[in-house]
Amino acid sequence: MLKLDFHPAGRHFLQIPGPSPVPDRILRAISYPTIDHRGPEFGALGLKVLAGIRTIFKTVHPVVIYPASGTGAWEAALSNTLSAGDTVLMFETGHFATLWKKLAEKLGLRPEFLGLPGIEGWRRGVQADLIEARLRQDSGHAIKAVCVVHNETSTGVTSDIAAVRKAIDAAGHPALLMVDTISGLASADYRHDEWGVDVTVSGSQKGLMLPPGISFNAVSPKALEAAKTAKLPRSFWDWEEIIAMNQTGYWPYTPSTNLLYGLSEALDMILEEGLDNVFARHQRLAEACRHAVRAWGLEIQCADPSVYSPVLTGVMMPDGIDADAVRRVIYDRFNMSLGAALGKMKGRMFRIGHLGDCNDLTLMATLAGCEMGLKISGVPVAASGVAAAMDYLAAHASPLPLRAAA
Ligand SMILES: *Cc1c(COP(=O)(O)O)cnc(C)c1O
Repeated sequence: MLKLDFHPAGRHFLQIPGPSPVPDRILRAISYPTIDHRGPEFGALGLKVLAGIRTIFKTVHPVVIYPASGTGAWEAALSNTLSAGDTVLMFETGHFATLWKKLAEKLGLRPEFLGLPGIEGWRRGVQADLIEARLRQDSGHAIKAVCVVHNETSTGVTSDIAAVRKAIDAAGHPALLMVDTISGLASADYRHDEWGVDVTVSGSQKGLMLPPGISFNAVSPKALEAAKTAKLPRSFWDWEEIIAMNQTGYWPYTPSTNLLYGLSEALDMILEEGLDNVFARHQRLAEACRHAVRAWGLEIQCADPSVYSPVLTGVMMPDGIDADAVRRVIYDRFNMSLGAALGKMKGRMFRIGHLGDCNDLTLMATLAGCEMGLKISGVPVAASGVAAAMDYLAAHASPLPLRAAA
């Protein structure tokens, strides 16, 4: 029998790169009574979260909020802007880029998948020069959109979105730029307007510290224009009616009222800390985590230090070690969940999430669980990663003092 009320002493360490742990403050907000989604209070909540989420995307344009997981927002981005048979240029950075491409195929689009061969492409970010070269060949402008993943959650590699914009402009190509930052938003710096992104896709259960269940499309004026002639069938996902009703804080259908309470609370928390402080906190924890991996003598999945993810770290296992067996030991012995390797990397690495509601001691406990699990599993460990991470954190003060002097 499935026992969901099983509660071992202490708390479970949910160190997967999403869903991330939901702070008590947000859980309490979500537990408020559900209200009438056509009543007067709801409009005020709607207007607040719609304005606040724009700040997080760094856009002055509409952000559409769906009662759906991130996958729904992927589908919405494509179905609002494209027509059957359209060519889309997608870049293979890992498992999530691959899933988005499969979704595009199912919608009747023609995705072209660019990338570096083998697992090499799963260890580096988007190569903007390859995109530029491909767009230059496309003099007839058959390619309608370029789609890239900003934070590839399957590998722990980010991509330089400004460079992709530059590549599209350098080629003088009119394709839309669509970006998945489902796991990057509110953890890694992201600038929808400044980077000239047309549709940005995101979700609730990663950097935003919410449970799964709502997702987003940030939409540029050019994308709204494309929606007027796009012919893919869409109803639930259609931006037009949602954006029109959002003017007064309402939705055409029942929104996720309680998750929007949670979003309101999450926005307060993130903006109180300050977005730049949130990003710096993630960078610092990620660097401490990498110090641990290097001390263990293990390899970091991301092979290009300029694009290390601040959200998660992929840890590669030596040959002959099954990463899933190590994860299982850590789960059984220390009540901690780590991310499994996906797709091409299956069994060869595990992923440590350090995103959202995470601080120095959360990370230290996580690394202690990893180090013990590696030793129990017989993985040769060169030196203490825990000690290396502690030294790093002690030597590099947090940019935002936890307790301001009274
Ligand atoms: C989590 C994630 C998704 C999938 O989102 P769901 O909420 O599981 O549908 C897509 N892309 C990236 C980069 C992700 O991290």
